[in-house]
Amino acid sequence: MEAPPVIRESPYRCIACGYDLSGTAIGGQCPECGRPIVDSLRSRETGAAHSTLATVSMILGILGIALCPICGPFAILLSHMARKEISQGGYATSNTGMATAGFIMGIIGSVMLFFFGFLLLLDMTVW
Ligand SMILES: [Zn+2]
Repeated sequence: MEAPPVIRESPYRCIACGYDLSGTAIGGQCPECGRPIVDSLRSRETGAAHSTLATVSMILGILGIALCPICGPFAILLSHMARKEISQGGYATSNTGMATAGFIMGIIGSVMLFFFGFLLLLDMTVW
């Protein structure tokens, strides 16, 4: 019978507690904190241990203010998804700040959207 695959790289740090996981079975858990080892693998595979959703949310937030307020509500939606993604783990260093920035700018964009929409409606009603 074949032995289960183990982590050969050394040191291989656990994303939750920093324990060296080298030599432990990939399907197992961190001996120190119990975090599934796949979580540490996932964050390694994605390269930058960041939530892409959070980055996109921030970009949409900026666009929402600078170019098209329609992006605002999407920035809010994505920042919500990003927070969920970050909280579910798999990220060594989370970019929650970007999700927050996306959320705040998303709100500003949405207010602008509402405001412009209101003006447009008023314009149409008057004329
Ligand atoms: Zn650990």
